[in-house]
Amino acid sequence: MIQYEAVIGLEVHAQLATNSKIFATSATTAGRPPNSLTDPVTLGMPGVLPVLNKRVVDFAIRLGLATNCEINRESIFARKHYFYPDLPKGYQISQYDKPICHTGHLTIRLGGEHKRVGITRIHLEEDAGKNTHGENEPTSFIDLNRAGVPLVEIVSEPDMRTPEEAGAYMRHIRQIVRYLEICDGNMEEGSLRCDANVSLRPLGSTELGTKVELKNINSFRFVEKAIAYEITRQTMLLDQGDKVIQETRLWDEQKGTTRSMRSKEYAEDYRYFPDPDLLPLVVDHEWIEKTRSALPELPEQVYGRFKKMYRMDEYYCDILTEEKLTARYYDQAVAGHHNPAAIANWITTELFGRLNKEGLDMEQCPVSPENLALLVKLIDDDVISGKIAKVVFDEMFSTGASPLSIIESTGLKQISDKDHIAEVIDRILANHPEQVAQFREGKTKMMGFFVGQVMKETEGKANPKVVNELLTQKLAGE
Ligand code: ADP
Ligand code: MG
Repeated sequence: MIQYEAVIGLEVHAQLATNSKIFATSATTAGRPPNSLTDPVTLGMPGVLPVLNKRVVDFAIRLGLATNCEINRESIFARKHYFYPDLPKGYQISQYDKPICHTGHLTIRLGGEHKRVGITRIHLEEDAGKNTHGENEPTSFIDLNRAGVPLVEIVSEPDMRTPEEAGAYMRHIRQIVRYLEICDGNMEEGSLRCDANVSLRPLGSTELGTKVELKNINSFRFVEKAIAYEITRQTMLLDQGDKVIQETRLWDEQKGTTRSMRSKEYAEDYRYFPDPDLLPLVVDHEWIEKTRSALPELPEQVYGRFKKMYRMDEYYCDILTEEKLTARYYDQAVAGHHNPAAIANWITTELFGRLNKEGLDMEQCPVSPENLALLVKLIDDDVISGKIAKVVFDEMFSTGASPLSIIESTGLKQISDKDHIAEVIDRILANHPEQVAQFREGKTKMMGFFVGQVMKETEGKANPKVVNELLTQKLAGE
Protein backbone atom coordinates (compact mmCIF):
# COMPACT_ATOMS: atom_id res chain seq x y z
CA MET A 1 0.00 0.00 0.00
CA ILE A 2 1.17 3.56 -0.70
CA GLN A 3 2.60 5.42 2.26
CA TYR A 4 1.25 8.96 2.63
CA GLU A 5 2.69 12.03 4.21
CA ALA A 6 0.46 14.72 5.70
CA VAL A 7 0.95 18.36 4.73
CA ILE A 8 -0.46 20.98 7.09
CA GLY A 9 -0.69 24.78 6.92
CA LEU A 10 -2.39 26.91 9.55
CA GLU A 11 -4.27 30.18 9.30
CA VAL A 12 -4.32 31.73 12.77
CA HIS A 13 -6.49 34.68 13.72
CA ALA A 14 -5.51 36.69 16.77
CA GLN A 15 -7.69 39.42 18.25
CA LEU A 16 -5.52 42.40 19.02
CA ALA A 17 -5.82 43.72 22.57
CA THR A 18 -6.45 47.36 21.71
CA ASN A 19 -8.97 49.43 23.64
CA SER A 20 -10.94 50.53 20.61
CA LYS A 21 -11.86 48.96 17.29
CA ILE A 22 -9.75 48.92 14.16
CA PHE A 23 -11.67 51.63 12.28
CA ALA A 24 -13.99 53.08 14.94
CA THR A 25 -14.04 54.46 18.48
CA SER A 26 -16.23 51.80 20.18
CA ALA A 27 -14.55 49.75 22.89
CA THR A 28 -13.51 46.14 22.35
CA THR A 29 -14.33 44.92 25.87
CA ALA A 30 -15.63 41.35 26.04
CA GLY A 31 -18.75 40.33 27.93
CA ARG A 32 -20.75 43.56 27.54
CA PRO A 33 -24.51 43.57 26.83
CA PRO A 34 -25.21 42.78 23.15
CA ASN A 35 -24.86 45.73 20.78
CA SER A 36 -23.71 48.12 23.50
CA LEU A 37 -20.31 48.60 21.82
CA THR A 38 -21.41 49.96 18.49
CA ASP A 39 -21.28 53.22 16.57
CA PRO A 40 -22.21 54.39 13.07
CA VAL A 41 -19.01 52.93 11.53
CA THR A 42 -19.43 49.56 13.25
CA LEU A 43 -23.09 49.46 12.20
CA GLY A 44 -22.18 50.20 8.58
CA MET A 45 -24.34 53.31 8.32
CA PRO A 46 -24.29 55.09 4.97
CA GLY A 47 -21.94 58.02 4.64
CA VAL A 48 -19.56 57.14 7.49
CA LEU A 49 -15.82 56.70 7.02
CA PRO A 50 -13.38 54.30 8.68
CA VAL A 51 -10.34 55.76 10.48
CA LEU A 52 -7.43 53.42 11.08
CA ASN A 53 -6.36 52.78 14.70
CA LYS A 54 -2.61 53.40 14.88
CA ARG A 55 -2.09 50.99 17.75
CA VAL A 56 -3.33 48.16 15.53
CA VAL A 57 -0.55 48.87 13.08
CA ASP A 58 1.95 49.03 15.91
CA PHE A 59 0.89 45.59 17.15
CA ALA A 60 1.09 44.09 13.66
CA ILE A 61 4.62 45.45 13.18
CA ARG A 62 5.64 43.99 16.53
CA LEU A 63 4.31 40.60 15.52
CA GLY A 64 5.91 40.79 12.09
CA LEU A 65 9.32 41.56 13.58
CA ALA A 66 8.96 38.81 16.20
CA THR A 67 8.22 36.28 13.46
CA ASN A 68 11.11 37.36 11.22
CA CYS A 69 8.85 38.89 8.58
CA GLU A 70 9.50 41.65 6.10
CA ILE A 71 7.34 44.67 6.88
CA ASN A 72 5.75 46.17 3.79
CA ARG A 73 6.43 49.88 3.67
CA GLU A 74 3.12 50.24 1.92
CA SER A 75 0.13 47.97 2.39
CA ILE A 76 -3.43 48.19 1.14
CA PHE A 77 -6.80 47.59 2.77
CA ALA A 78 -9.22 45.72 0.55
CA ARG A 79 -12.90 44.91 0.69
CA LYS A 80 -13.81 41.25 0.83
CA HIS A 81 -17.46 40.91 -0.14
CA TYR A 82 -19.92 38.40 1.18
CA PHE A 83 -23.33 38.55 2.75
CA TYR A 84 -23.97 37.49 6.31
CA PRO A 85 -26.14 39.17 8.96
CA ASP A 86 -23.14 39.72 11.25
CA LEU A 87 -21.50 41.86 8.56
CA PRO A 88 -23.66 44.97 8.13
CA LYS A 89 -21.56 46.60 5.39
CA GLY A 90 -21.75 43.56 3.13
CA TYR A 91 -17.96 43.42 3.04
CA GLN A 92 -15.15 42.85 5.48
CA ILE A 93 -12.18 45.21 5.42
CA SER A 94 -9.09 43.03 5.12
CA GLN A 95 -5.79 43.07 3.26
CA TYR A 96 -5.34 41.11 0.10
CA ASP A 97 -2.40 41.33 -2.29
CA LYS A 98 -0.44 43.81 -0.18
CA PRO A 99 -0.49 42.67 3.44
CA ILE A 100 1.45 44.46 6.17
CA CYS A 101 3.95 41.60 6.72
CA HIS A 102 5.25 38.74 4.59
CA THR A 103 7.95 36.09 4.31
CA GLY A 104 8.86 35.23 7.86
CA HIS A 105 9.39 32.09 9.89
CA LEU A 106 9.19 30.60 13.35
CA THR A 107 11.19 27.81 14.89
CA ILE A 108 9.26 25.24 16.86
CA ARG A 109 10.73 22.68 19.25
CA LEU A 110 9.37 19.19 19.53
CA GLY A 111 11.05 16.48 21.59
CA GLY A 112 14.46 18.11 21.30
CA GLU A 113 14.12 18.60 17.53
CA HIS A 114 13.98 22.04 15.96
CA LYS A 115 11.83 22.76 12.98
CA ARG A 116 11.38 25.88 10.94
CA VAL A 117 7.88 26.82 9.82
CA GLY A 118 7.54 29.51 7.15
CA ILE A 119 5.12 32.40 7.57
CA THR A 120 3.66 33.39 4.23
CA ARG A 121 2.04 36.59 5.37
CA ILE A 122 0.39 38.45 8.22
CA HIS A 123 -2.47 40.75 7.37
CA LEU A 124 -4.82 43.05 9.24
CA GLU A 125 -8.58 42.79 9.15
CA GLU A 126 -11.72 43.48 11.11
CA ASP A 127 -13.68 40.84 12.99
CA ALA A 128 -17.36 40.21 12.22
CA GLY A 129 -20.21 40.26 14.74
CA LYS A 130 -21.75 37.19 16.25
CA ASN A 131 -24.95 35.36 15.38
CA THR A 132 -26.73 33.17 17.88
CA HIS A 133 -29.34 30.69 16.83
CA GLY A 134 -31.50 29.41 19.69
CA GLU A 135 -31.93 25.64 19.84
CA ASN A 136 -35.74 25.53 19.50
CA GLU A 137 -36.44 29.15 18.76
CA PRO A 138 -37.62 30.60 15.46
CA THR A 139 -35.39 33.65 16.06
CA SER A 140 -31.72 34.35 15.51
CA PHE A 141 -29.86 37.09 17.33
CA ILE A 142 -27.10 39.37 16.15
CA ASP A 143 -24.56 40.98 18.45
CA LEU A 144 -22.26 43.53 16.78
CA ASN A 145 -19.98 44.16 19.78
CA ARG A 146 -17.27 42.07 18.15
CA ALA A 147 -17.74 43.66 14.71
CA GLY A 148 -14.71 45.79 13.94
CA VAL A 149 -12.48 44.29 16.62
CA PRO A 150 -8.96 44.23 15.11
CA LEU A 151 -7.53 40.90 13.97
CA VAL A 152 -4.27 39.77 12.52
CA GLU A 153 -4.31 36.68 10.34
CA ILE A 154 -1.07 34.75 10.36
CA VAL A 155 -0.83 32.44 7.34
CA SER A 156 1.79 29.69 7.53
CA GLU A 157 3.49 27.86 4.70
CA PRO A 158 2.36 24.23 4.35
CA ASP A 159 5.44 23.18 6.33
CA MET A 160 4.01 21.01 9.08
CA ARG A 161 3.80 17.23 8.78
CA THR A 162 2.13 15.94 11.94
CA PRO A 163 -0.68 17.01 14.27
CA GLU A 164 1.92 17.44 17.02
CA GLU A 165 3.90 19.92 14.93
CA ALA A 166 0.73 21.90 14.27
CA GLY A 167 -0.02 21.88 18.01
CA ALA A 168 3.50 23.06 18.84
CA TYR A 169 3.29 25.82 16.22
CA MET A 170 -0.04 27.00 17.61
CA ARG A 171 1.29 27.04 21.17
CA HIS A 172 4.35 28.96 20.01
CA ILE A 173 2.16 31.59 18.35
CA ARG A 174 0.23 31.93 21.57
CA GLN A 175 3.42 32.29 23.54
CA ILE A 176 4.72 35.01 21.19
CA VAL A 177 1.54 37.10 21.11
CA ARG A 178 1.43 36.94 24.89
CA TYR A 179 5.10 37.93 25.24
CA LEU A 180 4.40 40.85 22.89
CA GLU A 181 1.27 41.72 24.88
CA ILE A 182 -0.77 42.15 21.74
CA CYS A 183 -3.37 39.38 22.35
CA ASP A 184 -4.40 37.39 25.42
CA GLY A 185 -4.10 34.12 23.50
CA ASN A 186 -7.28 32.61 24.87
CA MET A 187 -8.56 30.00 22.40
CA GLU A 188 -11.60 29.00 24.45
CA GLU A 189 -12.84 32.59 24.39
CA GLY A 190 -11.98 33.00 20.73
CA SER A 191 -9.24 35.60 20.98
CA LEU A 192 -6.99 33.11 19.20
CA ARG A 193 -8.54 31.01 16.44
CA CYS A 194 -7.17 28.58 13.97
CA ASP A 195 -8.15 27.07 10.63
CA ALA A 196 -6.11 24.04 9.68
CA ASN A 197 -5.44 23.07 6.06
CA VAL A 198 -4.67 19.40 5.63
CA SER A 199 -3.72 17.33 2.59
CA LEU A 200 -1.94 14.06 1.92
CA ARG A 201 0.60 13.12 -0.69
CA PRO A 202 2.61 9.97 -1.43
CA LEU A 203 5.70 9.94 0.77
CA GLY A 204 8.62 11.34 -1.22
CA SER A 205 6.45 13.44 -3.52
CA THR A 206 7.03 17.19 -3.58
CA GLU A 207 3.70 18.16 -5.11
CA LEU A 208 0.84 19.30 -2.92
CA GLY A 209 -2.28 17.18 -2.71
CA THR A 210 -5.87 18.42 -2.54
CA LYS A 211 -6.45 20.16 0.77
CA VAL A 212 -9.32 20.35 3.17
CA GLU A 213 -9.77 23.36 5.42
CA LEU A 214 -10.86 22.59 8.98
CA LYS A 215 -12.78 25.24 10.88
CA ASN A 216 -14.23 25.60 14.37
CA ILE A 217 -11.13 24.46 16.23
CA ASN A 218 -11.39 26.31 19.53
CA SER A 219 -8.92 24.69 21.87
CA PHE A 220 -5.31 23.59 21.76
CA ARG A 221 -6.38 20.00 22.32
CA PHE A 222 -8.66 20.09 19.30
CA VAL A 223 -5.98 21.38 16.93
CA GLU A 224 -4.19 18.06 17.13
CA LYS A 225 -7.32 15.93 17.41
CA ALA A 226 -9.05 17.50 14.41
CA ILE A 227 -5.98 17.18 12.20
CA ALA A 228 -5.33 13.59 13.29
CA TYR A 229 -8.93 12.68 12.48
CA GLU A 230 -8.70 14.37 9.11
CA ILE A 231 -5.47 12.55 8.22
CA THR A 232 -7.14 9.23 9.01
CA ARG A 233 -10.23 10.14 6.98
CA GLN A 234 -8.19 11.18 3.93
CA THR A 235 -5.95 8.11 4.19
CA MET A 236 -9.01 5.86 4.10
CA LEU A 237 -10.40 7.67 1.05
CA LEU A 238 -7.14 7.37 -0.87
CA ASP A 239 -6.62 3.74 0.15
CA GLN A 240 -10.08 2.99 -1.25
CA GLY A 241 -9.09 4.61 -4.52
CA ASP A 242 -11.32 7.64 -3.91
CA LYS A 243 -10.34 11.27 -4.22
CA VAL A 244 -10.21 13.95 -1.55
CA ILE A 245 -12.62 16.77 -2.39
CA GLN A 246 -11.41 20.30 -1.78
CA GLU A 247 -13.83 21.65 0.80
CA THR A 248 -14.29 23.32 4.15
CA ARG A 249 -15.09 20.96 7.01
CA LEU A 250 -16.20 21.65 10.56
CA TRP A 251 -14.64 19.98 13.56
CA ASP A 252 -17.38 18.50 15.73
CA GLU A 253 -16.01 18.19 19.23
CA GLN A 254 -18.95 16.16 20.48
CA LYS A 255 -18.50 13.43 17.89
CA GLY A 256 -14.75 13.83 17.52
CA THR A 257 -15.14 13.98 13.72
CA THR A 258 -15.12 16.53 10.90
CA ARG A 259 -18.10 17.10 8.64
CA SER A 260 -18.52 18.89 5.36
CA MET A 261 -19.66 22.51 5.65
CA ARG A 262 -19.33 23.87 2.14
CA SER A 263 -17.36 23.37 -0.99
CA LYS A 264 -14.28 25.52 -1.31
CA GLU A 265 -14.79 29.19 -2.14
CA TYR A 266 -12.24 31.00 -4.25
CA ALA A 267 -10.75 34.47 -3.98
CA GLU A 268 -12.63 35.55 -7.14
CA ASP A 269 -15.90 34.89 -5.31
CA TYR A 270 -15.16 37.69 -2.89
CA ARG A 271 -14.65 40.44 -5.49
CA TYR A 272 -11.70 41.87 -3.59
CA PHE A 273 -10.81 45.45 -4.45
CA PRO A 274 -8.89 48.23 -2.67
CA ASP A 275 -11.09 50.06 -0.19
CA PRO A 276 -11.56 53.56 -1.62
CA ASP A 277 -12.32 54.89 1.87
CA LEU A 278 -8.86 54.07 3.20
CA LEU A 279 -5.52 55.42 2.11
CA PRO A 280 -2.60 53.07 1.51
CA LEU A 281 -1.00 52.28 4.86
CA VAL A 282 2.52 53.70 4.85
CA VAL A 283 4.98 52.56 7.51
CA ASP A 284 8.30 54.39 7.49
CA HIS A 285 11.71 53.04 8.38
CA GLU A 286 11.79 54.97 11.64
CA TRP A 287 8.53 53.43 12.86
CA ILE A 288 9.82 49.94 12.14
CA GLU A 289 13.15 50.54 13.85
CA LYS A 290 11.55 52.17 16.88
CA THR A 291 9.28 49.17 17.25
CA ARG A 292 12.19 46.77 16.81
CA SER A 293 14.21 48.39 19.57
CA ALA A 294 11.21 48.27 21.93
CA LEU A 295 10.59 44.54 21.41
CA PRO A 296 10.77 42.49 24.60
CA GLU A 297 13.14 39.55 24.89
CA LEU A 298 11.33 36.82 22.94
CA PRO A 299 10.60 33.30 24.21
CA GLU A 300 13.38 31.63 22.20
CA GLN A 301 15.92 34.17 23.40
CA VAL A 302 14.93 33.71 27.03
CA TYR A 303 15.07 29.94 26.53
CA GLY A 304 18.58 30.15 25.13
CA ARG A 305 19.71 32.49 27.88
CA PHE A 306 18.34 30.30 30.68
CA LYS A 307 19.97 27.25 29.15
CA LYS A 308 23.34 28.94 28.96
CA MET A 309 23.36 31.29 31.92
CA TYR A 310 21.85 28.92 34.46
CA ARG A 311 22.96 25.65 32.82
CA MET A 312 19.34 24.67 32.99
CA ASP A 313 18.01 21.50 31.40
CA GLU A 314 15.42 21.76 28.65
CA TYR A 315 12.56 20.58 30.79
CA TYR A 316 12.90 23.52 33.18
CA CYS A 317 13.73 25.95 30.35
CA ASP A 318 10.42 25.09 28.72
CA ILE A 319 8.33 25.50 31.82
CA LEU A 320 10.02 28.66 33.05
CA THR A 321 9.84 30.46 29.69
CA GLU A 322 6.29 29.43 28.83
CA GLU A 323 5.01 32.76 30.18
CA LYS A 324 6.90 36.03 30.23
CA LEU A 325 5.88 36.71 33.83
CA THR A 326 7.26 33.38 35.00
CA ALA A 327 10.56 34.01 33.25
CA ARG A 328 10.79 37.46 34.84
CA TYR A 329 9.92 36.04 38.25
CA TYR A 330 12.63 33.44 37.89
CA ASP A 331 15.25 36.02 36.86
CA GLN A 332 14.35 38.18 39.85
CA ALA A 333 14.45 35.29 42.31
CA VAL A 334 17.85 34.10 41.07
CA ALA A 335 19.13 37.67 41.31
CA GLY A 336 18.11 37.59 44.98
CA HIS A 337 19.94 34.34 45.75
CA HIS A 338 22.08 32.51 43.27
CA ASN A 339 20.84 28.95 43.42
CA PRO A 340 19.22 28.56 39.97
CA ALA A 341 18.45 24.86 40.30
CA ALA A 342 16.77 25.05 43.69
CA ILE A 343 14.74 28.10 42.69
CA ALA A 344 13.63 26.44 39.45
CA ASN A 345 12.49 23.51 41.49
CA TRP A 346 10.59 25.59 44.04
CA ILE A 347 8.78 27.52 41.32
CA THR A 348 7.77 24.52 39.24
CA THR A 349 6.66 22.34 42.13
CA GLU A 350 5.55 24.23 45.24
CA LEU A 351 4.68 27.59 43.70
CA PHE A 352 2.90 26.28 40.59
CA GLY A 353 1.21 23.61 42.69
CA ARG A 354 -0.22 26.16 45.04
CA LEU A 355 -1.19 28.64 42.29
CA ASN A 356 -2.96 25.84 40.50
CA LYS A 357 -4.80 24.73 43.59
CA GLU A 358 -6.03 28.25 44.29
CA GLY A 359 -6.87 28.90 40.63
CA LEU A 360 -4.49 31.87 40.48
CA ASP A 361 -2.12 32.88 37.71
CA MET A 362 1.38 34.26 37.97
CA GLU A 363 0.10 37.83 37.94
CA GLN A 364 -1.74 37.20 41.19
CA CYS A 365 1.12 35.34 42.86
CA PRO A 366 1.23 36.33 46.55
CA VAL A 367 4.87 35.30 47.05
CA SER A 368 7.35 37.88 45.77
CA PRO A 369 10.45 36.59 43.94
CA GLU A 370 12.60 38.29 46.60
CA ASN A 371 10.88 36.33 49.35
CA LEU A 372 11.19 33.03 47.49
CA ALA A 373 14.91 33.74 47.03
CA LEU A 374 15.20 34.42 50.74
CA LEU A 375 13.48 31.16 51.59
CA VAL A 376 15.94 29.18 49.47
CA LYS A 377 18.82 31.12 51.03
CA LEU A 378 17.59 30.20 54.52
CA ILE A 379 17.66 26.53 53.54
CA ASP A 380 21.12 26.87 52.01
CA ASP A 381 22.39 28.63 55.15
CA ASP A 382 21.02 25.79 57.31
CA VAL A 383 18.69 28.15 59.13
CA ILE A 384 15.70 25.96 58.29
CA SER A 385 15.39 22.45 56.92
CA GLY A 386 13.80 21.71 53.54
CA LYS A 387 10.87 20.20 55.35
CA ILE A 388 10.23 23.22 57.54
CA ALA A 389 10.68 25.40 54.47
CA LYS A 390 7.52 23.87 53.00
CA VAL A 391 5.58 24.91 56.09
CA VAL A 392 7.06 28.39 55.89
CA PHE A 393 6.24 28.53 52.17
CA ASP A 394 2.60 27.67 52.82
CA GLU A 395 2.42 30.56 55.25
CA MET A 396 4.19 32.88 52.77
CA PHE A 397 1.63 31.97 50.14
CA SER A 398 -1.32 32.57 52.46
CA THR A 399 -0.11 35.84 53.95
CA GLY A 400 2.46 37.24 51.54
CA ALA A 401 4.79 37.69 54.52
CA SER A 402 8.55 37.32 54.35
CA PRO A 403 10.03 33.97 55.45
CA LEU A 404 12.10 35.72 58.09
CA SER A 405 9.14 37.21 59.87
CA ILE A 406 7.29 33.88 59.68
CA ILE A 407 10.23 32.04 61.21
CA GLU A 408 10.54 34.66 63.94
CA SER A 409 6.90 34.63 64.88
CA THR A 410 6.40 30.87 64.77
CA GLY A 411 9.73 29.74 66.14
CA LEU A 412 10.34 27.47 63.17
CA LYS A 413 14.02 28.20 63.07
CA GLN A 414 16.24 25.19 62.64
CA ILE A 415 18.21 24.07 65.67
CA SER A 416 21.87 23.67 64.78
CA ASP A 417 23.23 24.25 68.24
CA LYS A 418 25.28 21.12 69.05
CA ASP A 419 24.90 21.31 72.80
CA HIS A 420 21.16 21.56 72.55
CA ILE A 421 20.92 18.61 70.16
CA ALA A 422 23.39 16.54 72.18
CA GLU A 423 21.22 17.04 75.23
CA VAL A 424 18.14 15.78 73.37
CA ILE A 425 20.06 12.77 72.05
CA ASP A 426 21.38 11.84 75.48
CA ARG A 427 17.88 11.86 76.86
CA ILE A 428 16.55 9.69 74.07
CA LEU A 429 19.36 7.14 74.30
CA ALA A 430 18.85 6.91 78.07
CA ASN A 431 15.14 6.27 77.60
CA HIS A 432 15.64 3.54 74.98
CA PRO A 433 18.34 1.18 76.28
CA GLU A 434 16.83 -1.79 74.41
CA GLN A 435 17.08 -0.07 71.02
CA VAL A 436 20.60 1.10 71.80
CA ALA A 437 21.63 -2.48 72.55
CA GLN A 438 20.07 -3.68 69.29
CA PHE A 439 21.99 -1.04 67.37
CA ARG A 440 25.25 -2.03 68.96
CA GLU A 441 24.56 -5.69 68.09
CA GLY A 442 24.60 -4.64 64.47
CA LYS A 443 21.01 -3.63 63.76
CA THR A 444 22.08 -0.39 62.06
CA LYS A 445 18.54 0.18 60.81
CA MET A 446 17.78 1.50 64.32
CA MET A 447 19.52 4.73 63.24
CA GLY A 448 16.33 5.81 61.54
CA PHE A 449 14.39 5.23 64.73
CA PHE A 450 16.70 7.52 66.72
CA VAL A 451 16.66 10.26 64.08
CA GLY A 452 12.86 10.05 64.13
CA GLN A 453 12.80 10.45 67.91
CA VAL A 454 15.06 13.51 67.79
CA MET A 455 12.88 15.11 65.13
CA LYS A 456 9.76 14.36 67.12
CA GLU A 457 11.24 15.92 70.21
CA THR A 458 12.39 19.05 68.33
CA GLU A 459 9.25 19.32 66.18
CA GLY A 460 11.32 18.70 63.06
CA LYS A 461 13.57 21.65 63.71
CA ALA A 462 16.84 19.88 64.44
CA ASN A 463 19.45 20.25 61.72
CA PRO A 464 19.56 16.72 60.23
CA LYS A 465 23.27 16.96 59.48
CA VAL A 466 24.13 17.70 63.10
CA VAL A 467 21.70 15.05 64.35
CA ASN A 468 23.32 12.36 62.21
CA GLU A 469 26.79 13.39 63.18
CA LEU A 470 26.12 13.39 66.92
CA LEU A 471 24.02 10.23 66.89
CA THR A 472 26.75 8.32 65.09
CA GLN A 473 29.32 9.47 67.64
CA LYS A 474 27.19 8.73 70.66
CA LEU A 475 25.99 5.33 69.48
CA ALA A 476 29.57 4.35 68.79
CA GLY A 477 30.08 5.04 72.47
CA GLU A 478 32.21 8.12 72.06
P1 ADP B 1 -6.61 29.34 -0.26
O1 ADP B 1 -6.52 29.86 -1.63
O2 ADP B 1 -7.48 28.16 -0.10
O3 ADP B 1 -6.86 30.39 0.78
P2 ADP B 1 -3.84 29.47 0.31
O4 ADP B 1 -2.87 29.08 -0.74
O5 ADP B 1 -4.07 30.90 0.55
O6 ADP B 1 -5.18 28.72 0.04
O7 ADP B 1 -3.36 28.79 1.66
C1 ADP B 1 -4.11 28.85 2.81
C2 ADP B 1 -3.43 27.98 3.85
O8 ADP B 1 -3.44 26.63 3.43
C3 ADP B 1 -1.96 28.31 4.07
O9 ADP B 1 -1.67 28.19 5.46
C4 ADP B 1 -1.21 27.25 3.28
O10 ADP B 1 0.02 26.93 3.86
C5 ADP B 1 -2.15 26.07 3.39
N1 ADP B 1 -2.08 25.19 2.24
C6 ADP B 1 -2.10 25.52 0.94
N2 ADP B 1 -2.09 24.44 0.16
C7 ADP B 1 -2.05 23.36 0.99
C8 ADP B 1 -2.05 21.96 0.80
N3 ADP B 1 -2.08 21.41 -0.41
N4 ADP B 1 -2.04 21.17 1.88
C9 ADP B 1 -2.04 21.70 3.10
N5 ADP B 1 -2.05 23.00 3.36
C10 ADP B 1 -2.07 23.84 2.32
MG1 MG C 1 -5.99 32.12 1.14
